Amino acid sequence: MKVIQVRCPNCNSPIMSKQRDLLFLCQQCGTLHVRDGGVNLVDYEIADFAKSAPIQGRTYVPFWRIYANFTILSKNSSGGSMYKLANWIKGGGGDSGDVFIFVPAPDFDPPTFKRLATDFTANWPKYSTRLDFGGVPRLPANLPKEEAVKLAHFVIITMEAEKPGVLQTLDYTLDVKDARIIFLPFNSTPDGLRPGL
Ligand SMILES: [Zn+2]
Repeated sequence: MKVIQVRCPNCNSPIMSKQRDLLFLCQQCGTLHVRDGGVNLVDYEIADFAKSAPIQGRTYVPFWRIYANFTILSKNSSGGSMYKLANWIKGGGGDSGDVFIFVPAPDFDPPTFKRLATDFTANWPKYSTRLDFGGVPRLPANLPKEEAVKLAHFVIITMEAEKPGVLQTLDYTLDVKDARIIFLPFNSTPDGLRPGL
């Protein structure tokens, strides 16, 4: 396995990485940076496991959490309402509001990607944060931030158009304000990843 060594852009400490991972976490100062063409610092949060989460198979999964203003300009759906998106835009009570979109950063198969993205985007996870991983391994991130922002559009469309053909047109704007990495807790089980929240 190839070992990569880079230096922390904040404190210059060496960071060793044994696997292909766009994210580099400095053990000395806790700075997270991403190498996806450039070297950029990334804000991040580590979510704590629920007390009820099993110890076995604990794994952290990095997500890009896109914070954006979402505005529906026009819509036309037949045979269904814009039920999901209408509920999703909280606070605004109309066709515009601030939203979180959760885009999984590891290399998942399409069904797993879709399930995790739509589940967390439809129901924003609540968690308390912690300062370290507590010895729990984490999956590598393979998705650059720019790709995550593009995929945020796919997540929005997928959320509403679960029934093929229902959504005819949807014109909207997505004004991205912030993107950060959230490490969410999971348990790896024979049936796949289960949230440990
Ligand atoms: Zn550092």
